[in-house]
Amino acid sequence: KLVSREFQSENTIVKIGDYEIGGDEIHVMAGPCSVESRSQILETAHAVKEAGATFLRGGAFKPRTSPYAFQGLEEDGLKLLAEAREETGLLVVTEVVDVRDVELVAHYTDILQIGARNMQNFFLLKEVAKTNKPILLKRGPSATLEEWMMAAEYIMDGGNYQVMFCERGIRTFESYTRNTLDLSMVPALQSLSHLPVIVDPSHGTGRWNLVPAMTKAAVAAGADGILVEVHPQPEKAVSDGKQSLTLANFAAMMEELAVLSQAL
Ligand code: PEP
Ligand code: MN
Repeated sequence: KLVSREFQSENTIVKIGDYEIGGDEIHVMAGPCSVESRSQILETAHAVKEAGATFLRGGAFKPRTSPYAFQGLEEDGLKLLAEAREETGLLVVTEVVDVRDVELVAHYTDILQIGARNMQNFFLLKEVAKTNKPILLKRGPSATLEEWMMAAEYIMDGGNYQVMFCERGIRTFESYTRNTLDLSMVPALQSLSHLPVIVDPSHGTGRWNLVPAMTKAAVAAGADGILVEVHPQPEKAVSDGKQSLTLANFAAMMEELAVLSQAL
């Protein structure tokens, strides 16, 4: 299989602009769960850039559990991400949820995110494979390692070899945390596959106070990057406020991460 170490022994380095994911550097992709307003995304972008993030995350199309919950600003949100990119130099990662929007989202973003709920949306996987954008493939909430690797295989078989895995926690019997972050997937994937592995400690825990420790654990486990939710006012966030770091908490975490990276 294309995704396997047998097919390719050396690590895949995903090149995006001046950045390389899967190489020596650890990339931090930070930002709000949802793009909510111009001031919210610009304030967050400037702060995470200042603290050392290289990518801005933010959802413009949101896959929500309830149909009555905020569904995203759609193209207006993509335009705000593009504006933040322009102002800060951060590159952008945002989710595409529908085959009909792939071209539109690809036009605005640097990385296309496939959300956990769509990991086995094979028609969406085939569609994003036709773009020339790197893909961040989140693990399905109850997907096995094998199923996850086969989802990546769909994208590679479709002609797009720039795929990154993103561990974001799985559903277990534990309900204190929103999901159980399965950090064993980092070395497991790295032994079986040549693709980079990113960890999302925000969805992986559902609790902001657990995020710094799990971020450091992910990096110690060998992750190539972190995807983390940050919001200027988490208590006012329209989605995932409980797992979002404040700008100050994010900056503090980045300092701890720098110390850890030195030690590794
Ligand atoms: C997100 O990144 O905001 C998101 C919806 O993540 P997941 O697909 O992992 O739930
Ligand atoms: Mn979220």
